[in-house]
Amino acid sequence: MQYTWNTASPEETIALAEKIGAKLRAGDVIAYRGDLGAGKTTFTRGLAAGMGIKELVTSPTFALVHEYGGEPPLTGVVRCPSLIHFDMYRIADENELETTGFYDYPLEESVFAIEWSENIEAALPPQTMTLTIERTGEESRRITLEGDERFADIGN
Ligand code: ADP
Ligand code: MG
Repeated sequence: MQYTWNTASPEETIALAEKIGAKLRAGDVIAYRGDLGAGKTTFTRGLAAGMGIKELVTSPTFALVHEYGGEPPLTGVVRCPSLIHFDMYRIADENELETTGFYDYPLEESVFAIEWSENIEAALPPQTMTLTIERTGEESRRITLEGDERFADIGN
């Protein structure tokens, strides 16, 4: 299914992403599409908050990947998935992709959020959900998600 929302500020984008993040579960992959400055990192900030992650999300441009959450499980408490936030801007081939740890992070315990996912298209798992952010004005964005029924009740 395809869902489209419009936001009029970074705060609105974060609020939307929080609602989406709250519905995510281990094994989910969000592949971003959107130019520089579209709001992919801003969106990920909300996604993390919605997943219950308290750390501040920053752009993984230099490190290529940032890892959030996934604290050691407490006895009897279900472990929350980690958020693995990739920036694939400079990834050109399979060897470079390997250096990011893409194949090493346990997806069964994590959510992957991938900026510049078009660079690793062939490596994206089948359950990948594409999230496109288009700039429609200075502070306005059109956000489109290709995902399942989980997201149907998120209004705009
Ligand atoms: P990207 O990761 O796609 O390069 P960033 O999230 O780093 O983009 O930057 C987006 C920029 O656009 C931020 O400075 C943010 O404040 C600004 N912005 C303005 N309006 C919006 C909006 N509606 N949603 C998201 N970001 C917005
Ligand atoms: Mg970014």
